[in-house]
Amino acid sequence: MHQLSCEQVTALLSFYVEDKLSDKLTQYVREHLEQCPQCMEKYVKLKNMFGKFMDTQNQVVENPYINKQYEDFKSNLSAYVDNELNDFENIRLKKIAISNPLARQDLENIYTFKKLLHSAFEKTKNDMKTDYSKSVLCKLSQDCSNNAKVDPFIKLTILFFVMVTFIVAGMIYILYF
Ligand SMILES: [Zn+2]
Repeated sequence: MHQLSCEQVTALLSFYVEDKLSDKLTQYVREHLEQCPQCMEKYVKLKNMFGKFMDTQNQVVENPYINKQYEDFKSNLSAYVDNELNDFENIRLKKIAISNPLARQDLENIYTFKKLLHSAFEKTKNDMKTDYSKSVLCKLSQDCSNNAKVDPFIKLTILFFVMVTFIVAGMIYILYF
């Protein structure tokens, strides 16, 4: 049975943490760690450092929890952006977006997309508004020109009938009284 010294284990630890040792060496180091608290302590420290390093390097691939979280985030993303979630869910997704770079990127992308969509929609709406106001203006001005034409005509017609009525009444008065 091989027994590694603490010095040997210390030298191998970083490779052990990165899982770069042969099966045999891995086993020797593991056996030593199980019996040696000092080396175990070194191992835990190194493992934590390496873990943090990996977290910043490639969170999503390395960490199944974050992976699951990200899937969850993606499935709720559109509801989140559309403000369809309750407060609790909103805060949860916001936290994921803050802690997970991929989620944040997705959120930024969807916001950019929505902004594009929104501006396109606004443009169409504005175009329609312009068209609508144009047609309203057109109708109004037509109405105005019609009114300008109709109004004096009606006035003349009324005046005409009033005059005719007076003339007829006058004639009736002259003829019969
Ligand atoms: Zn040791």
